[in-house]
Amino acid sequence: MQDNYTFPLYRPPAEANSIIIQVTNGCSYNNCTFCSMYVDKQYSVNNLDSIYSQIDNYSIQNPDATKIFLADGDVLGIKTSVLIDILKYIQKAFPKLRRISAYGSTQNVLNKTNEELEHLKENKLNLVYYGIESGSDTILEKINKGVSSQEIIDTINKLTNSNIKVSATIILGLGGIAYSREHILHSARIINNTQITYLSTLQLGLDDSIKDRFFKSFIDYFASTDYDIINEQREFIEQINPINNIIFRSNHASNAIHLSGTLPKDKQKLVEQLDVSKIMGEEIIIPMKYRGF
Ligand code: SF4
Repeated sequence: MQDNYTFPLYRPPAEANSIIIQVTNGCSYNNCTFCSMYVDKQYSVNNLDSIYSQIDNYSIQNPDATKIFLADGDVLGIKTSVLIDILKYIQKAFPKLRRISAYGSTQNVLNKTNEELEHLKENKLNLVYYGIESGSDTILEKINKGVSSQEIIDTINKLTNSNIKVSATIILGLGGIAYSREHILHSARIINNTQITYLSTLQLGLDDSIKDRFFKSFIDYFASTDYDIINEQREFIEQINPINNIIFRSNHASNAIHLSGTLPKDKQKLVEQLDVSKIMGEEIIIPMKYRGF
């Protein structure tokens, strides 16, 4: 990592070995009530000189790099022509480059035309990390996600139709006890009706800084225990009947149980792993206090 990053800086677990170029600061939406990632950051786009200087430095340190992740939260908020210039500069600097990836939000993907997305793909933006969070419109409204489940489907389809791969996340526990079943069924419906490449589940944890905001807009939220969440995970996996093979990971630091496999092929194996975990007992479960409850 370079020492001129503006922290905090987040990246998906799968980008642990990638070079990270900080292109923006924060998230252009920054209003989801459960999310504390960028509460202290005002969204801005770094100036091109600083972006090119990061790329130059990394190309000297690691000229054979094959994977680049563009931070922060919402790089697709950048005007497409500017983003294409950055992608072209990266490609010149790293001749062995295989893929460029970034987080993407519904609003900013839908604001791009199909042609713009195709042009980004042609310039090696191969993968977008996309937070579905929940497929339930009720929950999406309660967490102030600012989008509907149909818009989520439209976003995934728009990316995949441009041949940009989607790595999607669902947050277990996001509906609490009252909306657990709705959360799982509607989230699975989105996965089963789109063609994502990677799927991961996180486990809801609330930072102290945003708890008041979360509970204010979700007054009937009753926190699930970790065992409830393992049951949610189990039911979610059982409900997944995808159109294409999906690489599934549940390996974020927030997850009580770490899982990996390919769906639908490994569905039974994953379910059995969860059943064994429940029998093994409490020592492998993350106590609720570490999740903010
Ligand atoms: S969840 Fe994503 S879109 Fe929502 S505020 Fe956090 S970074 Fe922004």
